[in-house]
Amino acid sequence: VAQVATDLRLSMLRAMLASRWDYFLHRQLGQLTNSMSIEAVRAANAYLHGATLISQLIQALVYVIIATLLMWQAALFSILMGALIYVALNRLVKMSRKAGKRQTSFTKLMIARLADTLLSVKPLKSMGREGLVDTVLVSETKNINRALRREVVSTEFLAAGQEILFALVLVIGIYVTLVKWELPIATVMVLGFLLSRILKRTGQVQRSYQKMAVSESAYWSIQKTISKAEQAREDTGGNRTPTLEQGIELQDVSFSYKDKQILEGINISIPAGSFTAIIGPSGSGKTTTLDLIIGLLQPDSGTLLVDGIPLSELDMHRWRRTIGYVPQETVLLHDSVLNNVALGDPEISEADVISALREAGAWDFVEKLPEGIHDLVGERGGKLSGGQRQRIKIARALVHRPRLLIMDEATSALDPKSETAICETLSKLRGAHTILAISHQPAMLDAAERAYRLQEGRALLVKDDAG
Ligand code: ADP
Ligand code: MG
Repeated sequence: VAQVATDLRLSMLRAMLASRWDYFLHRQLGQLTNSMSIEAVRAANAYLHGATLISQLIQALVYVIIATLLMWQAALFSILMGALIYVALNRLVKMSRKAGKRQTSFTKLMIARLADTLLSVKPLKSMGREGLVDTVLVSETKNINRALRREVVSTEFLAAGQEILFALVLVIGIYVTLVKWELPIATVMVLGFLLSRILKRTGQVQRSYQKMAVSESAYWSIQKTISKAEQAREDTGGNRTPTLEQGIELQDVSFSYKDKQILEGINISIPAGSFTAIIGPSGSGKTTTLDLIIGLLQPDSGTLLVDGIPLSELDMHRWRRTIGYVPQETVLLHDSVLNNVALGDPEISEADVISALREAGAWDFVEKLPEGIHDLVGERGGKLSGGQRQRIKIARALVHRPRLLIMDEATSALDPKSETAICETLSKLRGAHTILAISHQPAMLDAAERAYRLQEGRALLVKDDAG
């Protein structure tokens, strides 16, 4: 049972992580946590009840064989009675299955909503609107309550109903054998014992089947999640090794989300070792352009070349291993500064982490934390300011000595002084690294040697120090 839960969890996790970015992006966080926790346990439970059912069937069979050896009529009678009771109470099993299905779907909804709301609870609380969370979650909670109640009612009714019917059958059996057929009392006692055993086992089989029916839907739900994620498996690309010695070239690249055109044939060239900036108003497709370069998204038309090799021919995993990425959103792991930078990579030493923190301009404040790099950053980095979190994430990208450093508005949460410090760091890093930064701030534009402006689906070269 433990193995079933673990296998389901791991297959789901792996399928999800290997899925295409656009697929993954549209999964609800809560649905994944729900599958990993609640559904995996319920699915394993279904397996437990299935296995129990088989062992009970075998036991019932043994008693039937013994009864047959003694008196085949008695065995036949027991089987018939067992089957009759089974059919009579089958409605309760159906009811349980339905209750289980409802629990599966309502729990999924509730956890998904819960996760979404908890992620945005600060604005809700600040505006005194936390009551809204209540309204949203209360209806799902009530639905789950109703389904649970039906489950309890149907399982208890089945147990009680079986009890009464067994007693009735036993009394009739004893009466017939003792009074009508006038069998010796010793034989009647033995037959009565076997009859009660057989009925008890068949009853247990039905109850196990009922319990399996309750949890079964969780198994199918998690299987569905896994198979859908597997169908959306990401293309691992070709087998050519990325080098990035000449540069990255976007040639006439177009991209749209569904029918919303974002990029209309942009041309961008990023020479290796350069510091290139992309600027543009919010929503102009800057992050989208980065996602295309990283290979998270595929262009509708046009080509992306790395040293003249189409991105689609590169080994995608190796390509991404050369990238250091600093995202726009500021969320950290609930862990130490050290682990937030090294991300558990055993090849990275504490000294590497410290030097990356220095480069990112984070060492000054990390050093002052009570436990230094071993200090916990708090839930999602809540103990640090936005700028501090951002610097830790820059260190995280730098610690791998990436060939291509990508920054998505990574300095927008910083004060001008820290920003200048980071821009200086970046200027020092260029040459050995290729730097691609998105920014609104003039400091970044000043520090970069090349800059493109994205606007209305087009990219315009607005700065080129090389001439
Ligand atoms: P920027 O980073 O320049 O602010 P983005 O590249 O993030 O802009 O987004 C460009 C446009 O594409 C925006 O209008 C945004 O609403 C839309 N967009 C971004 N991601 C998606 C998505 N996954 N599905 C649909 N539309 C999206
Ligand atoms: Mg963006």
